[in-house]
Amino acid sequence: MKYVMIIPDGLTDLAVKELKNKTPLEKAYIPHINFLLQNGLTGAVRTVPDHHEPGSDVANLSLLGVDPRKVRIGRGALEALSQNIRINKQETILRLNFVTVKDDIMIDNTGGDIKSLEARGLIRELNRKIGQGKKFYPGVGYRNLVKISRAGLNIHTVPPHDILGKKIHQHLPEGKDRNVIIGIMEQANRILTQSSFRRTRKIKANAVWLWGEGYAVDTDSFYKKYGLKGAVISAVDIIKGIARLLKMDVIDVPGITGDFHTCYRNKALYALRNLKKYDFIFIHIEATDEAGHKGDYKEKIKAIEKIDREIVRTLLKAQEKFSIILLPDHPTPVKYRTHINKEVPFIFYSKGKALCPNHHFKTYSENILKRPPLFIKEGHTFLKKIFNQRS
Ligand SMILES: [Zn+2]
Repeated sequence: MKYVMIIPDGLTDLAVKELKNKTPLEKAYIPHINFLLQNGLTGAVRTVPDHHEPGSDVANLSLLGVDPRKVRIGRGALEALSQNIRINKQETILRLNFVTVKDDIMIDNTGGDIKSLEARGLIRELNRKIGQGKKFYPGVGYRNLVKISRAGLNIHTVPPHDILGKKIHQHLPEGKDRNVIIGIMEQANRILTQSSFRRTRKIKANAVWLWGEGYAVDTDSFYKKYGLKGAVISAVDIIKGIARLLKMDVIDVPGITGDFHTCYRNKALYALRNLKKYDFIFIHIEATDEAGHKGDYKEKIKAIEKIDREIVRTLLKAQEKFSIILLPDHPTPVKYRTHINKEVPFIFYSKGKALCPNHHFKTYSENILKRPPLFIKEGHTFLKKIFNQRS
């Protein structure tokens, strides 16, 4: 059997006052997703264990079979993998944001949306002036990386977008090795303050923020775990990094952007086109999460309806026989503008082979969570259970 798994990132939500206490998912017109539900299996799955940050890295890795309690890879390492930067067990890699800080307050986590060219110039300067066991890597815009030649640094960091408007000295890295990171940040900030390149280019970023600590890990490939040849469709770095970690291919799709303007339909078309070559295709859509972070329920409803119309409908209309799995990685409620750790509802539908629905739900929504016909407590066991439905 072949599978297409659709992950609308951050899809599920909480009641929104302006929507008469309905959620964006309840409000959206999603006839094709509802068709999958009415003719398929449903239930709830806990993608992130208790006391874990519900990040997209942890949640998606868990859905692809990696137990987050056993494997701690971290955002920095996943982004490095997606850019083909190698890390070994003797190194720790972190995300480096160029940010703007004023009077000790984090005022912009994107450093005035610094351009890649300018970020590259600053990265070059950091590499020149901070030597010995540190290497800085340019990425896209404010998103960069730094690799430190120290094995498994014991640190806990916070993302800069979580401390906007707050005093940075109250949110500096913690943990036994915190001073290593704080030292690099202070050194880099001094360089930025004195940088003539920064001054002449009128770059608003005046500091760096290190977070998303990442480590080299060993884990079985997706193929070894499930015996299926897998590929991923996503515009997002960490999802591509997850693919590399699990030795899945990344399918290049034109017109996908990782935001509202993504070409939804192409994701479905390229999945269909590649179904001969792969047994399992993972389509990740960022727009729903983005809308959640913006606190924009209208945009979220629009994104959900586009997923229904342009992805699910396209997959349903195709001749090919395969199964569809649909669920978010975690909720991103517009009310909180960030992720929360809560179970999510899933759908498993099989084209061409009727499954006996295990429920009476007519519409796909958070309502399923109140009385899920099936509850999967550990996200990393989810796919095994789904694949077993077929045997
Ligand atoms: Zn998010």
